[in-house]
Amino acid sequence: MPNLAPPIVQPSLAAIEALPPGISGVTPDALEAWFAAHGEPPFRARQVLDAVWRSGAASPAEVTTLKPSLQAALGDAFRWDTLGDTEVIATEGGLTEKALHRLDDGVAIESVLMRYPSAPGRRERATLCISSQAGCAVGCPFCATGELGFGRDLLTSEILDQVRSAVRRLAAKGRRLTNIVFMGMGEPLLNLDRVLEAVSALNDPARLGLGARQITVSTSGVVPGIRRLTGLGPQFTLAISLHAARDPLRDVLVPLNRRWPVAEVVAAAREHARATGRRISYEVTMIGGVNDTDADSDAIAGILRGQLAHVNLIPMNPVAHTPWTASPMPVIERFADRLRDAGLPTTIRRNRGQEVGAACGQLAAERSGTPAPAAVARRRDRLVASSAAALRGERSREAVPAGIDAGTEANSLPTAPGIAGATRRAAGGGARWHGARGPR
Ligand code: SAH
Ligand code: SF4
Repeated sequence: MPNLAPPIVQPSLAAIEALPPGISGVTPDALEAWFAAHGEPPFRARQVLDAVWRSGAASPAEVTTLKPSLQAALGDAFRWDTLGDTEVIATEGGLTEKALHRLDDGVAIESVLMRYPSAPGRRERATLCISSQAGCAVGCPFCATGELGFGRDLLTSEILDQVRSAVRRLAAKGRRLTNIVFMGMGEPLLNLDRVLEAVSALNDPARLGLGARQITVSTSGVVPGIRRLTGLGPQFTLAISLHAARDPLRDVLVPLNRRWPVAEVVAAAREHARATGRRISYEVTMIGGVNDTDADSDAIAGILRGQLAHVNLIPMNPVAHTPWTASPMPVIERFADRLRDAGLPTTIRRNRGQEVGAACGQLAAERSGTPAPAAVARRRDRLVASSAAALRGERSREAVPAGIDAGTEANSLPTAPGIAGATRRAAGGGARWHGARGPR
């Protein structure tokens, strides 16, 4: 019998950084410098960028404009693709494709490609949802990635190679990628340097060449990161995962609210909208009987009134190991109407890809094995008790999740052994990271 259990991996940024860099994360200037060191003119860099981003070359050997010795040197110096096996699961008649990528240290991450066919007055769109970290330290209890805990930051090339994978799959069908959202696994503003490098590659006409307005980065509310982005000027559309405007409830739903309370998050976002002239998108995952009452919609209307903002209501995707489910559609519609009455443009977003577990991190979490039933039961009980206390208006007495402050100081989280375990224990689970099984 083959051993079908996924390998247990210890995510380590230092270990993955010790490998040759991924070619997609290398800047054009650095590539030119590499060719210069090999006695080659700068246009060689352009030939490689075209091969990486346009022609879909599968290896340096396919860059036929380079002589074989240079192809070999390039292959030794850089990893052509940082994604090992990619398992693609299609659903909804092929409109949604979930990809589970295994990285070179065995860590599994996800991306989701969603196609929206053309309609009268609207061109076809293809939106890719990508991951910025393996796992997440924030630990939102309705999110499968949050339950997994923090693994490690993704390298710039690992972020970008998710995009190259989708571009190749689309190109094979004569289609183009039109939008990218950082709404997969991880908190992008806790890996901000690399996310910014990735966005500049996505924007760069010599690489992917996607407009800044076609890129959205979603944050759970890392205030120092939002302020840093404001200083940089418009880079992309900023989405804030609000979920609740009342601190006691947001403390439970988005645990970093204990560090940066909702008023600070909204103030930083308001300043970002003022300075950049760009509308902020606020996301609210609608959880039945938890954050969907009139008091919640009124609190959101109160905190966002008069802002350059748009609210997106998303029915909660069913996630294992929580006591919660999505709010019923009439409740969501009533919530939306109350926000609109308060002058806030509001849309309801239907979930895509539920069949393949398209909520962020769901597939990777499922593949990482099942926690012990007792741990699941404890987690559910704790969530029921903490949300009940929150609805009574009590602030959480639980600590800020481990690693959040460290992440904002260095813009990346420490990846010392045990961090994933520490975070997941804080979230009530029992942690071990498993790599995904590749296709068989
Ligand atoms: N960490 C960032 C970005 C990744 S999460 C953030 O939280 O904004 C992307 C979005 O997916 C967030 O708005 C998050 O709230 C939402 N999400 C997570 N789990 C979900 C679920 N089970 N159902 C619906 N939306 C979910
Ligand atoms: Fe992290 Fe976002 Fe999931 Fe919260 S919703 S645990 S911030 S990935």
